[in-house]
Amino acid sequence: SDTNEPVRNEEKPPPLAGANVMNVILVAAECAPFSKTGGLGDVAGALPKALARRGHRVMVVVPRYAEYAEAKDVGIRKRYKVAGQDMEVMYFHAYIDGVDFVFIESPVFRHLSNNIYGGNRLDILKRMVLFCKAAVEVPWYVPCGGVCYGDGNLAFIANDWHTALLPVYLKAYYRDHGIMKYTRSVLVIHNIAHQGRGPVDDFSYVDLPSHYLDSFKLYDPVGGEHFNIFAAGLKAADRVLTVSHGYSWEVKTLEGGWGLHNIINENDWKFRGIVNGIDTKEWNPKFDLHLHSDEYTNYSLETLHIGKPQCKAALQKELGLPVRPDVPLIGFIGRLDHQKGVDLIAEAVPWMMSQDVQLVMLGTGRPDLEEVLRQMEHQYRDKARGWVGFSVRTAHRITAGADILLMPSRFEPCGLNQLYAMNYGTIPVVHAVGGLRDTVQQFDPYSETGLGWTFDSAKAGKLIHALGNCLLTYREYKESWEGLQRRGMTQDLSWDNAAEKYEEVLVAAKYQW
Ligand code: ADP
Repeated sequence: SDTNEPVRNEEKPPPLAGANVMNVILVAAECAPFSKTGGLGDVAGALPKALARRGHRVMVVVPRYAEYAEAKDVGIRKRYKVAGQDMEVMYFHAYIDGVDFVFIESPVFRHLSNNIYGGNRLDILKRMVLFCKAAVEVPWYVPCGGVCYGDGNLAFIANDWHTALLPVYLKAYYRDHGIMKYTRSVLVIHNIAHQGRGPVDDFSYVDLPSHYLDSFKLYDPVGGEHFNIFAAGLKAADRVLTVSHGYSWEVKTLEGGWGLHNIINENDWKFRGIVNGIDTKEWNPKFDLHLHSDEYTNYSLETLHIGKPQCKAALQKELGLPVRPDVPLIGFIGRLDHQKGVDLIAEAVPWMMSQDVQLVMLGTGRPDLEEVLRQMEHQYRDKARGWVGFSVRTAHRITAGADILLMPSRFEPCGLNQLYAMNYGTIPVVHAVGGLRDTVQQFDPYSETGLGWTFDSAKAGKLIHALGNCLLTYREYKESWEGLQRRGMTQDLSWDNAAEKYEEVLVAAKYQW
């Protein structure tokens, strides 16, 4: 019965923010469920709701890539200059789960739903210039429930290089002139590998006074002297965050900082790591809408022993794999990219296929890696599936139906799939870096502790070794396996913990600068 369920955080009301109630505006290039290519979209969809639950007034500003039924034109028009061209934007608004969603409409964002970061470098840059110029003025012009946010007690949360111009605009256009003096900006690093690099001449597109040029200039052995949007954003922001402790350490190193480590070290006083949470409504086996079907089923810790095998059988059937409860089903979900270590899996496939296992990989990305997936499926029809595509539903179903999830990422700022997996009783096997190291403790058979298997260098041999131990436990030590599942499923992975830490940062930024 439900009464024996561990108490999940979603069921207890979080403490209210009290005297520190703030107006918070999160600005991002993507926001689930409206737009999403990866973890950034998930964070932008979930963190604002958690901040709103703590009592803050919270807005999300995101481009309007498509028509969203809930969002209505607020009737405001504004014009901004981008690369000498006058561009008009419109604002659409929806109030959902306690959060104001403001969508910025312009022809340059339209029809990008499946290709948010599409186009050439300058196209993307111009889109982001327009987006950040409009976003920084949203608190004045867009009435939400009749009242604008205004510039008092206001903090922006910008995310990754796409919106790293926002802290710069806040400073250069306003605070340098004594306007929006008390408005703060926080820049969150979700992935430092993408920085908005270009030739120094790109400075002419961002429309800033010439004394700002230096803050964009960066020299590194790879790029030489170049223009770097992330660099300027990191300097201008009042606070800088990244999405795990492990990653906050890695970005300060030569290998992990991708040229920005010096700037981060110089700004260490305003820098902190906060591990992402997960949306416990979207990614909860008990409520997951993608498991509502005749074949799949919702389940919880109590019904795990019936529900998960049913989801596994449904997945095997859907994929056209032999429906066998006893065979370990291994999953991978993610961008097909060097970062995600897809090539390490490919290297390990011959060994995996020599075992009695099934493997399903879902992803899109680099054409050669997409080909690897197709090839694998072709070669091992009876055991392996390579699903090339972006399918949220399939991602949920793999998370529920698989026994094991592989994440051999070379670097991983936080990683969400391992968190989702644990919440569904699926055991992660991960390369111990960044957020993966923070969130997946190695299983210890003597003390029966830990959450999965980790390996310490991005090598196929190491992956095979860890996976081998995992498979052995799956086959031979049923109680240990159930313990792993139970520990994974009873963690509080909700955003409420992380939101409290974000609040600390916002409040600290408000009083000190
Ligand atoms: P990253 O942000 O680096 O891509 P994360 O693990 O933080 O990695 O987040 C990835 C998110 O994108 C997860 O929600 C994952 O389920 C989703 N995702 C990645 N690839 C696909 C895909 N092909 N189909 C559906 N969802 C995907």
